[in-house]
Amino acid sequence: MSKGPQRIRGTQDIWGEDADRFGQVIDTFDRVRRLYGFQRIEVPVFEATEVFARSIGETTDIVSKEMYTFPDRGGDSLTLRPEFTAGICRAYLSEGWQQHIPMKVATHGPVFRYERPQKGRFRQFHQLDAEIIGSDSPLADVELLAFADQILNELGIAEGVTLQLNTLGDAETRDAWRQALVEHFEGHRGDLSEDSLARLDKNPLRILDSKDPKDRPIADAAPAIDEFLTAEAADFFGRVTVGLDAAGIAWTRNPRLVRGLDYYRHTAFEFVTDRLGAQGTVLAGGRYDGLIEALGGPHTPAVGWAAGIERLAMLLDKPPASALDVALVPLGEKAEGAATGILADLRRAGIAADMAYRGNMKKRMAKADASGAGYAVIIGDDELERGEAGVKDLKTGEQKSVALSDIAGAVRPR
Ligand code: ATP
Ligand code: MG
Repeated sequence: MSKGPQRIRGTQDIWGEDADRFGQVIDTFDRVRRLYGFQRIEVPVFEATEVFARSIGETTDIVSKEMYTFPDRGGDSLTLRPEFTAGICRAYLSEGWQQHIPMKVATHGPVFRYERPQKGRFRQFHQLDAEIIGSDSPLADVELLAFADQILNELGIAEGVTLQLNTLGDAETRDAWRQALVEHFEGHRGDLSEDSLARLDKNPLRILDSKDPKDRPIADAAPAIDEFLTAEAADFFGRVTVGLDAAGIAWTRNPRLVRGLDYYRHTAFEFVTDRLGAQGTVLAGGRYDGLIEALGGPHTPAVGWAAGIERLAMLLDKPPASALDVALVPLGEKAEGAATGILADLRRAGIAADMAYRGNMKKRMAKADASGAGYAVIIGDDELERGEAGVKDLKTGEQKSVALSDIAGAVRPR
């Protein structure tokens, strides 16, 4: 390790195969996003602290202990985004996008949380994010879940990942359930972890989500939401599950699933794998009909999800080898000049081509072989005089002379 500056704990320098995996996740997300008609959105990496405090909720882990908050030089309190939803909802309000509802938007990029770094858990990590703002239809929930499901399928990692689904009901349901939960947990005050005791007063639903082994038996014995569901809430959930079945998306009910945010209503879901140890949730989200009001806007139903790019990338097999089509091998200075022109022409013709900056024939051929390119184009002085180059098929070893003007045609990827 060098004595120079080191990277900050919980951040990552990503290169090589890991960067290829990372890119594959984003490319797939962007391709599938178009198929579902989600528009790209970009929001700032930092916001006024109150944007997150008000929309995520003061009692959540994120706001109470995970945010990177700092005063800027003008004395304003700013926070690096710990997630996308709050910033997107802030933008929706401050830009006056109400006329565009329902807005189907998607983005990806870095987010920041002060957490204990471990496998699959970082302080700067990256998320894919998709939101539908301004729709109260269960079809919006279904569409978002289908979008998520298709990404996992196209990445080839759907096997071993299950969609766990729950409803948190409407406001009336949630109040009644909350009260029953408080009564249940009050009865076990002495056995709860310290964290959960604090949650009991502020956010008792979060105890259901506790990872502390002390809390698990108490949380697992807590009353389920079903007996408190209003007819409307039960109907909404029913329409989501019918839609999922119609779209051919497998799901399982997890009546204990709750989400961190205070403003979640109705649908809550997580795509979970057992291949990543404790960090098994790869994608999570739900309906947050109360959030935009909490930011001071009009009542605006919305639903969304976020996925950890690193966690998805960790599930990927070895990424496909180099996408190089052609390696150029010039023999001598004159040939190098000609090769520079051919290289530019090939690239303009949409062919992935590369040439080492230096090296003799042997070194350059070895490099061409190692690059995984389909062809080597060998340019010597004699051939140049005749207006030709040698095109070697690196898979079969076959070599033939090709007119310089025909090279692009001879090396087009098959
Ligand atoms: P966890 O229970 O693992 O802390 P969370 O509920 O805090 O997750 P969300 O806020 O729902 O996570 O974020 C959505 C997704 O972002 C998660 O499902 C996960 O894939 C990813 N994620 C969350 N925190 C981290 C982190 N610190 N490092 C890497 N990925 C993360
Ligand atoms: Mg977390």
